[in-house]
Parts: sequence; C-alpha cells; structure tokens
Amino acid sequence: MYESYEELPKLRLPLGQEVFLSDSTLRDGAQMPGVVIKVKDRLKIFEYLHRIGIEKLELFLFTKSDEEAARAMLDQNCLCPEVTGWARANPKDIDLVLAMDGIKETGILISISDVQIRTKLGLKTREEAEEKFLTALQYAVDHGLKTRAHLEDITRADLNGFVYPLVKKLIDIDPDCIMRICDTLGFGLPFEGIGNPYGIPEMVRNMLSIGVKNIETHTHDDFGMATANSLAGYWHGANWSNMTFLGMGERAGNSELEKALLFLVQRVEGFQKYDLSCLSEFAEFMEEHIGIRVPRNKAVVGRNVFAHESGIHTAGVIKNPFIYEPYPPELVGGRRKIMIGNTSGTEVVRFKVE
Ligand SMILES: [Zn+2]
Repeated sequence: MYESYEELPKLRLPLGQEVFLSDSTLRDGAQMPGVVIKVKDRLKIFEYLHRIGIEKLELFLFTKSDEEAARAMLDQNCLCPEVTGWARANPKDIDLVLAMDGIKETGILISISDVQIRTKLGLKTREEAEEKFLTALQYAVDHGLKTRAHLEDITRADLNGFVYPLVKKLIDIDPDCIMRICDTLGFGLPFEGIGNPYGIPEMVRNMLSIGVKNIETHTHDDFGMATANSLAGYWHGANWSNMTFLGMGERAGNSELEKALLFLVQRVEGFQKYDLSCLSEFAEFMEEHIGIRVPRNKAVVGRNVFAHESGIHTAGVIKNPFIYEPYPPELVGGRRKIMIGNTSGTEVVRFKVE
C-alpha cells in the first residue's frame, strides 16, 4: 500500500464547489517594505500568473506607472488572469477604475472594525461608515462594474452586531458581489469550533447562510496561519482566495500562492487546470529582479526542497525518489540534487562517481 505517488488517495472539497485563485502580488505584495516593481517586471509577473492559469489579479491604479502596467496587461487580451481594480470607498477612486477601459471589476475597501472606522477613517459612528460603504458600492454598480467588498479587519470586528447586517445590505445592492474576508492582522484561525471573531470556517458558513454567493479569503501571515486559513475558506464553501506569490506583502505577508497551488493540484481532486511547472523559474525571477530572498528551505520553491545530503535519505532517494520526496520535482519545475556533505554515506559517493 502506498508505494507510488499515484496510489496516494486524494482529498475532495467537501462541498464540491468550483474554486478559483486571485493574485495580489502586484497590489498587496508590492506594498512589501523595500519593494519597488518596475513596469516591465510587473508584466513578467503577469505572464507567469497567466502560465499557471491564475484566474484574476488586482491592481492599484493611482500612479502613471500603475496605469501603464494595467494598460499593457489589458492589451494582451489574455483570458487569464482577469485584470481588476482596487478602490477605497469613495467615487473618486472608483472613477479611476472606470477610466481604465477594459477593467470590469473593482474591489472596494470596506474597513469594518471599530478601530478602523473611528481611528483610521475618522468617522464617529458605524452608521456613518455604513452609509459611506453602501454609497460607494451603489456607485460602482450604477456604473456597470462587477464588485468585491473587501471587509477589512473582519477578524477584529463585531460580526453579529455590525458586519453581517452590513453584508446583507451589500448583497441587496449587488447579489453577485464577492464578499472578501480580509484577515488583515492575521488573527483568523482555520479550525472548526472557533467562534467570533476568529473562526474562518464559521465565518464562511455564516456568510453562506445569509445568502452570499461569492466568498473570498484574503489572509495575512502574522501568526503563521495564512495559507491554512485560505484553504479552510475553500474547505467550508468559499469559492475564491486571494494570495501573493512567495507570500509577499505587508509585515509577515500574505497567504502563499505557491503553497495553496501545490496543495490543491497534488492533493485535492479536480485542480488539473493549474500548471505549476514554472513555479521554480518564477521564484528565481523574483530573486533576481525584485530582490526577494527565498529561504533555502521554503516549501515548493526553496533551493533545498529536492536536495538530499544525509546518508540515509540519499540512499533512499537513489533507490526510489518516492521514499523521501513527497511529490516529483518536475511538477513545480524543480530539480533533484544529491549532495555530498558531512552526513553523506558511501552510497551517495558511489552514485556520484558512477
Ligand atoms: Zn492585505
């Protein structure tokens, strides 16, 4: 039993819904301290996302170079990733999205924790905030845009007292609005049985029961749970997750696109639509051109992921890679490395010589 990759049982999404990925490498990822991405490199990242088959990406449209990059991506006329915009909850920002011919969808920032409303937005009451959010969404809908509501800081917000009633009003305006669960400070948890405001499974279930059709997670990694929270979203009925390549982003970054991809493609049924063979090359590109240092032991794309040095492991891998490799390197465009070090045995030396 279980002596080859093909024999390993695959998982199934319990609700069987169709699932998509959206990328924020060029939005949240580009907000990573110390990172500036040139227009030509943004296009290259777009190209990698296209090769993988990522369905959507989001962009800021605030500067000349933002516009230039968006225009160039739209002009490629690719089926994927769809280029979408991002706006704060005001008509002026939404006008910037509307001015970009070819963009059909925008995210709208809806900051819903009390600290965000009072201190960041400087509003006195939740009612004032609600009015602002609903007006912005209505404006986007009236101008023909598809919408996403980015419910910022939801894992520190009053879900029953404010968020869910607001969500009902949002879907009254746009029943197809994608409700984005933004775990902005990484407080979300992927486990069953965790109540408000932290539990992602319960939050997704509640949204479904309110009548939300499209649910997306956007999770930060401050407590190391981001990718687990993305997957928990899918597991309980979300149909989107928004992530960044290598987990780039503010502070500890975001849910890692490459980890979620590998998990879905290799371990869950029905995800052959994604092609992971350029992931290693994509990571090398980010190191070389964007200046991101990829840790050697980083899952999926780290230099050591298929490197073997100890005597026991190398002897095993030489006999049959299945013994110590969880999936074939080719899947992610990686290469196996058999190395000689102070823990190597005679087997590896013989192998190298031969
Ligand atoms: Zn974020």
